[in-house]
Amino acid sequence: MGLVNEFGWSISREAMFDECRRRYYFHYYLSWGGWERGAPRISQDAFRLKRLTSLALWRGQLVHYVATKVLASLRAKGRIPAFEDVERYVLERFDTQLSFSREGRYRTEPKKRGGELNIDWLALFEHEYGLPLEPGRLERARGECVAAMRALLESPILARIAETDPDGWAIENVDLGEFAQVFDFEGARVFAKTDFMFRGTDGAFNIVDWKTFSGARAEEDGGTGGKARVQLGVYGYYAASILGEPLERIRLIEVNLLDGARETAYAVAPEDIELFRAHIRSGIDRLSSVLAGGDIARNEPLPPRFFPVIDNGRCRYCNFHRICKDEGNPDRLPA
Ligand code: SF4
Repeated sequence: MGLVNEFGWSISREAMFDECRRRYYFHYYLSWGGWERGAPRISQDAFRLKRLTSLALWRGQLVHYVATKVLASLRAKGRIPAFEDVERYVLERFDTQLSFSREGRYRTEPKKRGGELNIDWLALFEHEYGLPLEPGRLERARGECVAAMRALLESPILARIAETDPDGWAIENVDLGEFAQVFDFEGARVFAKTDFMFRGTDGAFNIVDWKTFSGARAEEDGGTGGKARVQLGVYGYYAASILGEPLERIRLIEVNLLDGARETAYAVAPEDIELFRAHIRSGIDRLSSVLAGGDIARNEPLPPRFFPVIDNGRCRYCNFHRICKDEGNPDRLPA
């Protein structure tokens, strides 16, 4: 059987739906099958554009990837790797990926081969759209990758992890490039992504979330309001309902690697799980409201007019600008 475009819920999916429904339509529906040679041109375009990434996002992805490799190395060798080795590795990945994108190889080379992700596959927004990428921005991102790895290697949390039994670890398999956790919630599939989980020496079940926010953004993202509460609910629900962990033992630890590995720990309360249930139910209702017959099993979108375009200064930086608002493109999808 071929691949099926299954309906699912995730925090990022719902956020895109709320931000711009047209973008959501391009990302989750129009792009589907766009990897096939015989697919309509606009689906092929949507598929290519959905995989573009911004410089800030790429930097974060690279830091996450190398953090995972650090943990795998710690598990295999029983010691924290040397900073010089990690620095060399992260810079090598940075430079190789940047060349890959700059040369436009993402247009011809597959991201996955034999089920494994090509970790050096990268498609930067600026390269696809022919926009300048100032050396100063690149140098800053390069330096931040190194700073984040130094912060990780010198962090108290890594030292604490090193004292625990690796049998109690769950490291995200980044080489598969898929969501780490998928579970059912009242008939819908829920996708979550935990970076790392470990059993502490005190018996606590720790879910670690690496962050790479600097300055004001770190403040904005802190606290237990809004999105952070929902995320806490997702992880808490997963650990309690799927893994069977007692609520009082679950701890979510956010570690900002661009802020000296500063930790913010959250306990999960029954209200967080209730909040999650209510949030996800309403999220699934809203996402299914743009499906034919509201049928999540069929997952067939309503016609494009049900996914209106928005007028927003950020449209120019949207991955799908070319097939949405570029008036010079005769193949764009009419509004
Ligand atoms: S260009 Fe603007 S309207 Fe079009 S998909 Fe992107 S954000 Fe939405």
